[in-house]
This record gives sequence, structure tokens and C-alpha cells, in this order.
Amino acid sequence: MDHATIPAGAARFLHPKGHVIDGQVMPPTSGATLPVEDPATGEIFAHIPAGDAGDIDRAVRAARASFSAGAWSRADPAHRGRVLWAFARAIREEAEALAWLETRDSGKPIAEARADITGTAEILEYYAGLASQIAGQTMRAPGNNYAMVMREPAGVVGQITPWNFPLYVGAWKFAPALCCGCSVVLKPSELTSLTMLAAAELALAAGVPPGVFNVVCGTGADAGAPLSIHRDVDVLAFTGGVVTGRKVLHARADLLRPTQLELGGKSPNIVFDDADLERASAGAAFGIFYNQGENCNAGSRLLVQAGIYDRFVARLVERARAIRVLPPLDERCQMGALISKRHARKVADYVELGVAEGATLLCGGPPPQGDHFARGHWYLPTVLANVAAEHRVFQEEIFGPVVTVTRFEHDDEAIALANATEFGLAAGAWTSSVQRALRCTQELQSGYVWINNYNPTPVEVPFGGVKSSGFGRDCGPQAIETYTTWKTVLWALAPFDDWYRQ
Ligand code: NAD
Repeated sequence: MDHATIPAGAARFLHPKGHVIDGQVMPPTSGATLPVEDPATGEIFAHIPAGDAGDIDRAVRAARASFSAGAWSRADPAHRGRVLWAFARAIREEAEALAWLETRDSGKPIAEARADITGTAEILEYYAGLASQIAGQTMRAPGNNYAMVMREPAGVVGQITPWNFPLYVGAWKFAPALCCGCSVVLKPSELTSLTMLAAAELALAAGVPPGVFNVVCGTGADAGAPLSIHRDVDVLAFTGGVVTGRKVLHARADLLRPTQLELGGKSPNIVFDDADLERASAGAAFGIFYNQGENCNAGSRLLVQAGIYDRFVARLVERARAIRVLPPLDERCQMGALISKRHARKVADYVELGVAEGATLLCGGPPPQGDHFARGHWYLPTVLANVAAEHRVFQEEIFGPVVTVTRFEHDDEAIALANATEFGLAAGAWTSSVQRALRCTQELQSGYVWINNYNPTPVEVPFGGVKSSGFGRDCGPQAIETYTTWKTVLWALAPFDDWYRQ
């Protein structure tokens, strides 16, 4: 596939005429648009509506009206499940078109965009099945009462999502919210909004009532901030960086309203000397270079035991050099372009900083000029060795195809190094020892731990962080906690006893 070939179905979603609000495509009130750049070529290939506080307010009002009307919030849960199944089917039917849009929008390899779209359908299918299983509790309560503890949809939900897995990570948010009966206003990243607008249209066609799933585009300042300070948003769920997460949380604290945060990471991937080195080096490469390293749970800090350090690092470098960094619509592409010029500069600056701090650049760096690298934003798979815990490249999220490697002697040291950052999103450990593996599962300060594995995030189990990586969980039945509230009903089984009786 090349850039000029638009797959059947994609043209329909390529030039959106507006946000999706109240079941309609609504042009932005300001009439303004934002350009959409193809990160692999630098070409502006589309425009999206530039939303502002007025558009956000329209969407929140539509969401509130739909929530109050009850066509979704009070619908038979099995009906919600059937509609989410139909929505998932529509995503599968449009999979090739959506994957193409995602690749052009984000620069990721087409094979990885296809995995995102299949994953999105799987998320919807999972929550379709869960819709009719959301249940509360009943019990006899003291004082001759009957108690019903009901789970109710939380109301109007605001969701703000990032650019790295635009539709997939968005689905982690909108699928459970819709499953619970909430009405949603979702603000995708201004860098990658096309597939989310497409999804909102597919949701409508699948039977999600107007006003229940609204998508408003725009920048963080113009559309994201107004959503996070809107008084009529009952729950706000945010995925993005720590700096933005902090701003969102401040805004929500002033409103005293619940918030879920999925933030950044600096995830350790530990290789012990008893690991299967072939598999561990494959997992280490996949852990950092998937999605150009623009992955919140990227295994960006490799900790390698001294006895195998040289052998392991040599094999990792071989693997990094062999990754095919190609135009992302080329079927052979294994790593695509970085999201923007600014981001590519940030990644390059970090590598220069790492070298200045004393790290050794073993491979990677900026690509040679020429061929497809002449345009767009590229960076090669990069390995920085001899990195120490006090280096900034060890502590700060680079969010690119850059892995740091640190040597350790003993297991205690590995655990201490793994836990030595402010983040706690994910971690990996490679070992053939059950004891070592168990110790890692217990002592790593992390919301997710992979043993002899890295990266898969099946929707059936929760995903989220500890420490500065956020709180609350996407995925699994746990996501239902964010999008429901408890209501207790105490029903007297005996006549009311008058406290003040004379
Ligand atoms: P970002 O924080 O810059 O932006 C995220 C979203 O917030 C975007 O939609 C943006 O427009 C919006 N935004 C920006 N300023 C805002 C403001 N003042 N108020 C409200 N909204 C605002 O993050 P990004 O660059 O899009 O994504 C990269 C970050 O996301 C990385 O740190 C990565 O680790 C994190 N991430 C985390 C997860 C996870 O599940 N934990 C998943 C993917 C990405």
C-alpha cells in the first residue's frame, strides 16, 4: 500500500465536517479547523474541527439530556450489550479503512495499526458481554430493613485521550463507560482524531442513541481544559502525560468530582542471569520498540544481570539494528515515524543528554538523510548502555525508541533499581526461577508485571498504574468502578418507629 492508495471506506472518514455531537456531525462554532499531518511525510492530508469551550458545552449538554432521557442509561443492559456488539462488528467491517487512517495519522506501522483496530473490536466485545453482568448486592440489614446496594451509571463522563494508540486506548475508556450506561464526551488528541470521529459515527449507526457518545476535537488548551473544568461532568477519565494529568486533577479537585488518571511510565524490564536469553532479548526489543517506543508501558529501562550483560546487550543491539524502519504503509515496515517534529527533537535531545551524562550510545540515533527519511519525523531504534540510576535518561519518560541499559549484580539491587523512579505503570522480569519471578510480582511497585513476557494488555484484566503513573483502572471488570456509583436503598420491613414518641 502507498500513501496515494486510499482503501475502500477510508475516504468517508478522511474529511470530517465537524464534531459528533447529539447524533449529528456539527461544524465547530468558530468555523476553525486544525491541520492533520502525516508524521511519515510531513504532508497535511486532512483537517479536523477546532473545538472550543462552546463546543464542549454543547456536547456536555447533549450528553446530560441523553442521560436524563434514559434511552441508554436506563435501557435494558442486555440491549446495551447487543448494541456494543453491533458497534464492534462495524469496527471489524471497517478495519482496513480505520487501520489506514490510524497509520497516516500516527505514523505507526500498518501491521500495528491493524492490531489496534482488532483490539478495539475486542474491547467492545468484552464490554458488550459485561453489560448484563453488572450487579449490586442485597441483604437484610439491622433494624428489620431490607438493603439494596445498586450500581448505577455514573452520569456524564468526560474523557481525554492521547495520540499514541488513538482508537485503542480511547476504547479502553468509552467502551466500559457505554457498557455502564453513561453518556460520554470524548476529546481525542488533536494530533490523531480521525478514527475517533469515525468511531462515533459507527456507534450511532450501530444503535447508540444520539447524545450518548459525543466526540469533540480540539487542542488541550481550547477543548481539553474546558472539558476538565466543566461543572456538569460527573466523572473525568484522562490518559496522557503527568504534566497534563496534574492540571486536570487540580481542575477536578476544585469541582470535588471523581477523576481517573492513566499517566506516563518509565517501566523496568529485568533480565536475570537464568533467563532464556533469546526470548528475553526478543521481549526486550519488542518491549521498547513496539509503536516506536511511543508506548506508556514501554520497557524503557533494561536492567541486566552482570554475568550475562555483554552477551545480552550484544544480542539486543543486533535485534535493534535489524528492525525495518520504513514508510509505515509499507507492509514490511516494523517501525514507523515519530508523531511530530517537536517530539522527534525531544527524543534526540534526551539521547544527547544521556551521552553527556556518561551513557554509551551503542546503536541508533537520528537516521541518515535521504530516501524516506528526507521527510517526516524519524528516529532509529536506539540502545544507551552504562546508564546509572541518577541519570535523567533513567528517570524521565522519553516516549521514543530509546532503551537505557543498566547493569546489576544481585536480585536486591535489581528490585531497588526497578523501583527507583517516580513511576509505577508496568514492569517485566525474565527468569527461569519461580522464586525470582514470585519475588518480582510481590516487590515491584507497578500496576502491571509481565513474567517472561512484555507488552500484551488483554482487555479482560485491569491496566493502570501506581505512584505518579495514575490511579483507577482501565480494562477488566475493574473499569466498571470508574463509570458506576453505588446507591444504597434501605427499605423498612416493619412500621416506622417514632423516635420522638411521647
Ligand atoms: P498529553 O498529556 O500531552 O495529552 C493528552 C491529552 O490531553 C490530549 O488529548 C491533549 O489534547 C489533552 N490536553 C493537553 N493539555 C490539556 C489541558 N490543559 N487540559 C486538558 N486536556 C489537555 O499526552 P500525549 O502527548 O497525548 O500522550 C503521551 C503521554 O500519554 C505519555 O506520557 C504516555 O505515557 C501517556 N499515556 C499513558 C497511557 C496509560 O494508559 N497510562 C496510555 C497512553 C499514553
